[in-house]
Amino acid sequence: MAGGGNAIRGSRVGAGPMGEAERGEAAPRQTVTYFCSHDHRSVVTFAIEAAAPDSWDCPKCGLPASLDSENPPPAPKIEPYKTHLAYVKERRSETEAADILDEAVAQLRSRRKAGEIIF
Ligand SMILES: [Zn+2]
Repeated sequence: MAGGGNAIRGSRVGAGPMGEAERGEAAPRQTVTYFCSHDHRSVVTFAIEAAAPDSWDCPKCGLPASLDSENPPPAPKIEPYKTHLAYVKERRSETEAADILDEAVAQLRSRRKAGEIIF
């Protein structure tokens, strides 16, 4: 498999000019395309001096995406996005989580009340 003249896949990022024409911007940027196992293609913009990471969370489905369109990373067994509450629930029992919520709400209320009193 010599494959010499093959076009480089994923090199056509949009139609915008790269480099020369866009000089004079405050921060030069690079666009990097990531591919997830759902065939999503996400173009992420980084500062030119930043090293683009090898993987990125797909903004469309939350799965890990890689630079290699032929080999997107496999979907992990865990669900892509977790809410903050899910984390709380995971670490504590549900009643405890409810207590924490109650406490937070109570704090918010008292704070708001205090504010009203001042006025
Ligand atoms: Zn995706």
